[in-house]
Amino acid sequence: MALNLLMLGPPGAGKGTQAERFARSRGIPRISTGDILREAVHAGTEIGRRARAIMDRGELISDDVMIGIVRERLERDDAQSGFVLDGFPRTVAQASALDGIMDGRDPLLVIDIVVPETELVRRLGTRLICAKCGTNAPIAGGAATCATCGGKLVQRADDDQAVVLERLKVYHRQSEPLVEYYRVRPTFRSIDGAQPPDRVAADLAAAIVAASNVGVAGGRR
Ligand code: AMP
Repeated sequence: MALNLLMLGPPGAGKGTQAERFARSRGIPRISTGDILREAVHAGTEIGRRARAIMDRGELISDDVMIGIVRERLERDDAQSGFVLDGFPRTVAQASALDGIMDGRDPLLVIDIVVPETELVRRLGTRLICAKCGTNAPIAGGAATCATCGGKLVQRADDDQAVVLERLKVYHRQSEPLVEYYRVRPTFRSIDGAQPPDRVAADLAAAIVAASNVGVAGGRR
């Protein structure tokens, strides 16, 4: 059975870190729509040029564009035996389109990472990423260069304090309703993201086992 995992949670919850770690341990791709967009901005493609200003304001790219990107990505060969989706869906319209895309595939396991707002603001204000490869640096790391490629660590343009507050507002307005959208499914679990990363990873692995057992017993969705 393919392991189709979807990570929910506000910006700063640790979705990216946990998604990357889990995907690597299972040999499946992590599909981060934020990373795909940042690469497009970097490469100066048409989508990247249009997305840049919207991302810098902390707002969302249109559902049509995002659904097209994810549909195409999930069709690729490497996503057929499973994937970890990080940053998509962010609206109920995207979630509903994803249900259509997933029709006939193994069930989606949905994990919501819960972290108090004050902790999110603190984390986003101190987070650094590599200017070269985009990897997140550990929050308490104190390193000046990227552990993966040696590139310079910088603040993400949208981690600026004003933009952080806007992104959290956008999350509450447009993305938090997704928790209610998925909560009714037997394959939904929430985990406590305000713990050290190793504990979160252990809870995530346990939640995935629990959700996938129900997923098998409970049908495709
Ligand atoms: P992230 O790295 O997931 O925090 O995403 C960074 C930014 O990319 C977001 O603040 C949005 O502007 C944009 N973005 C990423 N994923 C989506 C999505 N599914 N829908 C709309 N905008 C997105």
